[in-house]
Amino acid sequence: TKVPAITLNNGVEMPQLGFGVWQVPDAEAETAVTQALQAGYRSIDTAAAYENEEGTGRAIAKSGIPREELFVTTKLWNTDQGYDSTLRAFDTSLSKLGLEYLDLYLIHWPTPARDKYVDTYKAFEKLLADGRVRAIGVSNFLPEHLERLISETSVVPAVNQIELHPHLQQHTAREYHAERGIATEAWSPLGQGKGLLEVPAIVAIAQKHNRTPAQIVLRWHLQLGNIAIPKSVTPSRIRENIDVFDFSLDAEDLAAISALDEDRRLGPDPAQFNMA
Ligand code: NAD
Repeated sequence: TKVPAITLNNGVEMPQLGFGVWQVPDAEAETAVTQALQAGYRSIDTAAAYENEEGTGRAIAKSGIPREELFVTTKLWNTDQGYDSTLRAFDTSLSKLGLEYLDLYLIHWPTPARDKYVDTYKAFEKLLADGRVRAIGVSNFLPEHLERLISETSVVPAVNQIELHPHLQQHTAREYHAERGIATEAWSPLGQGKGLLEVPAIVAIAQKHNRTPAQIVLRWHLQLGNIAIPKSVTPSRIRENIDVFDFSLDAEDLAAISALDEDRRLGPDPAQFNMA
């Protein structure tokens, strides 16, 4: 499977579909990431807070896939925000991953009450200038946080990774990102697999295309222009989730999914989430 790329605002190409490893224990991450790489994924999304950078790194190392064909993202955890602590946290993540450079580094949460994301991002700009990371961005930033970041720093974030799925379609954020040249990356793209994949409208579209509900939801993301990073540790689902490039949803399907927006978060509100 060849996954199409999104060109980020600095010209770097990022696969539009990647593999997420949140809640995968380090001991299982090596197997899961190995299966994903075998299935054709080339983009992996981890984070310092997931505590599986080492298992992820072991899978990358033993895959034998040339480094330049991979796109590895990790994220700086909240307690490491601040200029010097960010530089140290980056070194730790890179060494756990066993890599010489990172493709994308994200601030995991803005944690506005800490008031450190601007300094944190200035350290990201140094890492970018030093060639240690190919692109820098943020996660869970609301437009107000991006406004401040853009006005006080020099590099417009390449990506904002936010909770996004048919029950939380994020129209305001997506429009804001598009105006600013920031790519929108969807976390929990399958709505964590809970009720979303049983919604009758999605099941009906799946039957119409002879596909699974997960494939329909991923196709919706891709056709909207989102980057999506579904997670699974089940080999058949890992393969299923990347097998989405040989069919498309029509206007009627897209409209039926658009009608499912409930503006409902599964995760925390970024304006309020500050500690831990
Ligand atoms: P997801 O929406 O990818 O759902 C994953 C769950 O859906 C699986 O655990 C499984 O139960 C189910 N599932 C997966 N494939 C399926 C299939 N084909 N059929 C049926 N069920 C299926 O949820 P997620 O793991 O929360 O999000 C994906 C990734 O996004 C994470 O692994 C992580 O990398 C990233 N993420 C980032 C943040 C952040 O704050 N930046 C927060 C959450 C997740």
